[in-house]
Amino acid sequence: MRSFRYDGLPGRVVFGHDAARSDLVSEVDGLGGHRILLITTKRGEPLATELAGPLGERIAAVFTGVREHVPAETAAAAQTVAEDARADCLLCVGGGSAVGTAKVVALDRALPIVAIPTTYAGSEMTPVWGLTEFGRKRTGRSMSVLPRVVIYDPELTTTLPAGITAASGMNAMAHCVEAGYAPGANPITSLVAREGVRALAGGLPVAIKQPDNPSGRADALYGAYLAGAAFAVAGSSIHHKICHVLGGAYGLPHAQTHAVLLPYVAALVEPGAPDRMRDLAAALGASRAPQGLRELAGRLGAPTSLRELGMRAEDLEEAAGLVLAQVPDGTPVPVDEPALRDLLAAAFAGGWEELS
Ligand code: NAD
Repeated sequence: MRSFRYDGLPGRVVFGHDAARSDLVSEVDGLGGHRILLITTKRGEPLATELAGPLGERIAAVFTGVREHVPAETAAAAQTVAEDARADCLLCVGGGSAVGTAKVVALDRALPIVAIPTTYAGSEMTPVWGLTEFGRKRTGRSMSVLPRVVIYDPELTTTLPAGITAASGMNAMAHCVEAGYAPGANPITSLVAREGVRALAGGLPVAIKQPDNPSGRADALYGAYLAGAAFAVAGSSIHHKICHVLGGAYGLPHAQTHAVLLPYVAALVEPGAPDRMRDLAAALGASRAPQGLRELAGRLGAPTSLRELGMRAEDLEEAAGLVLAQVPDGTPVPVDEPALRDLLAAAFAGGWEELS
């Protein structure tokens, strides 16, 4: 008889072809939104304003100053716009950066968020917010930032360039991997994560080869949704910590760093979580999980070395020390400095022999 705890998270998901156009108004109605702040990037503004068009004058203001990792100045600017507009609802259209900006506005104001994600980052499913100040990213959990409604419309992801599709897809895959062994992991999160891996592994290669193929994009987005949902409950572990440290200390790009490191971290963790890694390998259709992840990353054309992301060789030793100081409790294997140095050196070079 197994025992476990499972904290299900609330939130409504609307998933489907054209859902952002057909369902947005009724979903905003359901939340009683009358003065809506639309949050997006400059690049995303034409799409976001087109989608929000049927809401008419209920769009009280538009904030397009979104920047990656939510710098404190961006957060303050978005909060001021929300105050000035007397917003009672937030609508974000875009990737994890747009969702993250909406979250910091919602944090102290208890404003409901409607999220329309256009990448595979999965932030829209989690109650985790992040804010970057003085070069350091702080994160926290609050139910106030969990979007009340998420509208997944695969059509909106057809414009994602191959490089972002691949990296963002591997970011979603990382959520599924860590959902297997993170502190809150349980049979339900494993079940959801397995289906997420299956959908991502099937959909992403199609999305790369045929960006407009609706079923490839739908599978990839469905997998990203499940990945975010599993991750939101299970939490994160050593892989996310390493990515977080490297992103914060050396400015490496978020999704690409996940893509590079994931097979190496899976190899590190494998001896401590053999059942989870066997499950993962089966869902990937591979004999072993690290190889399956690396093979998938290769097929997607995702970056495979920290060097190509701009990391410098002379920073590797310091990076190992920074990660060592923050190894999360419950990491399935003991992690010491030499192990981290080896992992980072292999990931820096993109060497693959270590995993065979
Ligand atoms: P992003 O939102 O910065 O988007 C990446 C790039 O893709 C941007 O240039 C954007 O303009 C472009 N883009 C987005 N949608 C597009 C589309 N449909 N077509 C063409 N281009 C498009 O990056 P991301 O990877 O989605 O999110 C990363 C951020 O999300 C990081 O700050 C990360 O920390 C955060 N995140 C948070 C959580 C959480 O649970 N809180 C989870 C995952 C990621």
